[in-house]
Amino acid sequence: MEEDNRKYIGILTSGGDASGMNAAIRAVTRSAIYNGFGVKGIYRGYEGLIAGEVKELTTQDVSGIICRGGTILKTARSQEFTTPEGRRKAYETLQREHISALVVIGGDGSLAGARQLADEYDVVCIGLPGTIDNDLYGTDSTIGYDTALNTIVECVDKIRDTATSHDRIFFVEVMGRDAGFLAQNSAIASGAEAAIIPEDRTDADQLEQFISRGFRKSKNSSIVIVSESPKDGGAMHYAERVRREYPQYEVRVSILGHLQRGGSPSAYDRILASRLGVGAIEALMDGQRNVMIGIHNDEVVYVPFAQAIKDDKPLDKSLIRVLNELSI
Ligand code: ATP
Repeated sequence: MEEDNRKYIGILTSGGDASGMNAAIRAVTRSAIYNGFGVKGIYRGYEGLIAGEVKELTTQDVSGIICRGGTILKTARSQEFTTPEGRRKAYETLQREHISALVVIGGDGSLAGARQLADEYDVVCIGLPGTIDNDLYGTDSTIGYDTALNTIVECVDKIRDTATSHDRIFFVEVMGRDAGFLAQNSAIASGAEAAIIPEDRTDADQLEQFISRGFRKSKNSSIVIVSESPKDGGAMHYAERVRREYPQYEVRVSILGHLQRGGSPSAYDRILASRLGVGAIEALMDGQRNVMIGIHNDEVVYVPFAQAIKDDKPLDKSLIRVLNELSI
């Protein structure tokens, strides 16, 4: 059998899935092939890298996927990869498959993993920010964030119809982990009355503030978007408090859950993923390593892993004022 001496670029998706990951896989694959590289898809994130679940990708393999949510490469969270032994197995797969550079599409955990691998072995890693949370420093938006935001707004519009019919306070819980981008911006876009977000955690109680502002006379429904937050307890926690402390209000909870992740990516996410995918191959050809490709002020930028992961991405505090002024 003829030995395969080509150098390949490996690509995997890791962590939570996000709409637009497929568009990114397509872009990396096509841009790599356009520039003369071979591409290998690694299935199920780092789990598949350890287990050797690898298949060469052609331009045809990625056709018809730009409009599809989820990820054709599947994704996973891998406990084994967090161990030195797991990463050694992952490196062995890369060597066996002649993969000299790895493109990782995922959130901060996935990029932390890529950084760790690159620190320990001579592997060139490039990251693409793929998470609905938008919590990666150095890029204005992450792949999947815009689609999730639009999905949330669509849901809240529907909840508003029922909330108005019954004079209720609705607490709507949205994803975001410890970042309030989805909550704050969906609150503005859906005309919600308030958002409870981790970044606005102060001594003053956010629920108290909202209730004390009172309901405008003309208002017959109230929607509060709550960022899921393991520390604060989420929408259920606030609904319980209202029931206890303000029994005069009828209160309901809606936890949007996984539907926020799915669906066809927005045009914005498709374009973002396409630009970042092409940017990843350009970065490799440029000799870059261990950087995340981002977009800042509409320009493609390279952000060192250490910075993308470590620094807290700041939420523009003026958004809090915008929501408060407009919800009187
Ligand atoms: P999302 O933001 O959607 O949750 P994520 O990439 O942050 O995505 P994680 O579950 O945090 O998701 O990370 C994905 C995988 O990356 C983990 O299951 C683990 O295998 C690997 N990983 C995370 N952190 C590290 C680390 N510090 N060292 C090595 N590997 C890591």
